[in-house]
Amino acid sequence: MKKVELLYKSKIADILNASAEEVFLYWKGRVALYAILQAMGVGEGDEVIIPAFTCVVVPNAIKYLKAKPVYVDIRPDTYNANIDQIESKITDRTKVIICQNTFGLSSNVETLVSIARKHSLYTIEDCTHGFGGTYEGRPNGSYCDAAFYSTQWNKPFSTGVGGFALIKNEPLRSRIEAVNAQLEPTSVKDALSLSVLYFVREKILTDRRYWRMVKLYRWLSKYKLVQGSSSGVEIESTQMPANYFKALSTMQMKKGLSNLNSLEEMLTRRKRNAIRYNEYLAARGKTVVNPQLFDNHSFLKYPLLVQNRDEVLKLAEEYQVPLGEWFCSPIHPVMEHWEQWDFEGEHFPVALRCASLMVNLPTDVEDITPVLRFIDHIDPWIE
Ligand SMILES: *Cc1c(COP(=O)(O)O)cnc(C)c1O
Repeated sequence: MKKVELLYKSKIADILNASAEEVFLYWKGRVALYAILQAMGVGEGDEVIIPAFTCVVVPNAIKYLKAKPVYVDIRPDTYNANIDQIESKITDRTKVIICQNTFGLSSNVETLVSIARKHSLYTIEDCTHGFGGTYEGRPNGSYCDAAFYSTQWNKPFSTGVGGFALIKNEPLRSRIEAVNAQLEPTSVKDALSLSVLYFVREKILTDRRYWRMVKLYRWLSKYKLVQGSSSGVEIESTQMPANYFKALSTMQMKKGLSNLNSLEEMLTRRKRNAIRYNEYLAARGKTVVNPQLFDNHSFLKYPLLVQNRDEVLKLAEEYQVPLGEWFCSPIHPVMEHWEQWDFEGEHFPVALRCASLMVNLPTDVEDITPVLRFIDHIDPWIE
């Protein structure tokens, strides 16, 4: 193992209260999930239970293995799967239950793990929002057989694109080594588009010029001149894109090592801003995140339900607020042809309603005053 790889894994492991041997690195978080599912032996006809409030790359990884995603509706307070509905989804084809740390919040993980044990199923936590945060005092992702994390530029810390897995289950660890032998190395083209991404994100996407630069960035993505987060084929179909199963490059490891240095500061800032949003919204009689959930929340984003979302998004541009649209669909960001992912919207009323009203406030900004001014002008509100 290269020195930088061991350093990177050790630094991640320290934060997860794990050892470097339990950490496995991938080109993206979704690739980590795909590797974990393979190590669990998921294949044709198997069923994998997932929340009906996910990113399309999650059911994609399941479909690539010819298995079937089985969805569970969410709770409107946590945006996580409704734990009371999980057991009814288990059949003799079920192999794995995936839970999610939505916006940085895990919930009912111990209950989920005990349900899975009772039925001899594997558990995976989608911790792509939650690295650095904790659930009931222990690092996010450490309760399940395996967890996967993302280091895409919007996630807790960035390597441009990137991801890793934490595998607590020992037999799975030896199996994933064999799976990982198939990983492709980074191509020259990937390395180049990653360099463009680093340049664009770090040198150009400064707050002051954010909106102008977002337009430039979208143009670069359109012409595939910069490493994007998802390719067209991943959003339009369940076909695996070419060169999907790739390893993390040394370049990404170095970037990760350097960005991990500001993780603590970012976690503190996110929590502080979320508390201020809660106070501000509560003082105006608006819906807030239940303060009882705060201990387990790391607030990668602050979720907010609004009416007239299109107008709210326009208003955000006017107020120069980098408002997020995560989970504008229960299988974000896919807005149509859900049947390709075996998703039947009518069975998931809570997820559908939340997805139709969802925006997310930024928590990583230094100064939230413009966001508060913007909040004052959103009308009417969802109660
Ligand atoms: C970002 C994200 C992923 C995938 O992570 P990548 O590193 O982009 O592959 C999976 N699930 C959720 C909920 C996400 O937000």
